[in-house]
Formats: sequence, C-alpha cells, structure tokens
Amino acid sequence: MNCRDAIPLMHEYLDGDLPGTEAAKLKEHMLACRDCRAMFEQFEKTEALVRSLTPAPVPDDLTPKIMSGIPKPRRRSGWLRWVRRHPAVSVAAVFVAVMLVSFASLWNQDAELAVKGADLDQVQIHGHTVIVPQGRTVHGNLVVENGEVRVDGEVTGNLTVIDGTVNMASTAHIAGQIKQVDQALDYVWYKLNEWAGLIAR
Ligand SMILES: [Zn+2]
Repeated sequence: MNCRDAIPLMHEYLDGDLPGTEAAKLKEHMLACRDCRAMFEQFEKTEALVRSLTPAPVPDDLTPKIMSGIPKPRRRSGWLRWVRRHPAVSVAAVFVAVMLVSFASLWNQDAELAVKGADLDQVQIHGHTVIVPQGRTVHGNLVVENGEVRVDGEVTGNLTVIDGTVNMASTAHIAGQIKQVDQALDYVWYKLNEWAGLIAR
C-alpha cells in the first residue's frame, strides 16, 4: 500500500466502514509510515472536534420497520460530511481560529485607550486606567475602549467597556447598565459561526 491509497482508507476507518482485512493493511502501512501516522492523528483530532460540536444523531431504531429491507442512507449532518471530505480545510479553519484568538490578544495589548462621554471633565486618566474619583459624578454615558476603568464615584448613565476591565469601589454608583464588550472574542465567534454556516449548507 502506498500513501495515496492509505488516505481514503483512513476516512473509511474513522467512519467505521473499513472491512477488517483492509483495516489490517492500513494499520500495517501506518506502522511503517510516519507521515500517514501523523495525518491519521490529525484526522482523529478533527473528527473529535467536529463530534463535540455536532448534536447527537437521531437513533436509528426510530426508522419504521418497513424501511428495514431498504439500505439505510447515511445519517450524518451535512457539515460533518463536509469536514470529512475536506479535512485539510477544516484543520486549517481551526488553526485560523486559534491564530485569530492569539492575534487578537496581542492586538489588544497595543491598542490605544479611547474614552468617550459627555462629561469627561469628571474623569481622571492615568496611563491605561480611567478613574471616576470618589465624590465626582459623570453625567450621562461613559465609554472606555482598551483600558481599565475604576469607578469610585458616580455615573448617571451607562458604562460601556470595550476590550477592558471594570473595577467598582464600594462607593461607586452607576445608574445605568454596565456593559462589557470583548471585540476580539466577538470577532472570532463571528468568524467561527460564519465558517460553521458555510459547512452546514
Ligand atoms: Zn504513508
């Protein structure tokens, strides 16, 4: 057996469709071939990942008895099948997602602090930290991007923190809502959903 023959057999093996004699031949090849062994491990990982993301299939015994004489169609979700046919692309997509997460966290570190609001006179800024001091009142909304917010005083509107953290002192009072948005994470989720949607088609 050569490597080109081995790859389709790996998929059949993972599907549980490979007869014993073929499986033995495949195993024999993989014992001798490090490349195929590595590829098989990659397929297994993709398979496990996809399974963890795919809802459990409908049990087969729900199929009416009348159907028992007819060969059963494969019950598989569309995107599981797609992933099986395009394992390299799938692995690449997972890789890209992981890269996006690490890239996003790097990108956050260097991002510039931005503070928006109608009443910024009440706010103190030290480096990447935005402080609403005790006894001060920020009238209206306060939006902080790429920074840390410490609230000791009062905010009469909403506090929105984009890609940052919030620290509230016991003296703090925020009349509106506190919203934390992680743009990097949202972006990755968006991309992953887009990818999943594409496969499910
Ligand atoms: Zn090989």
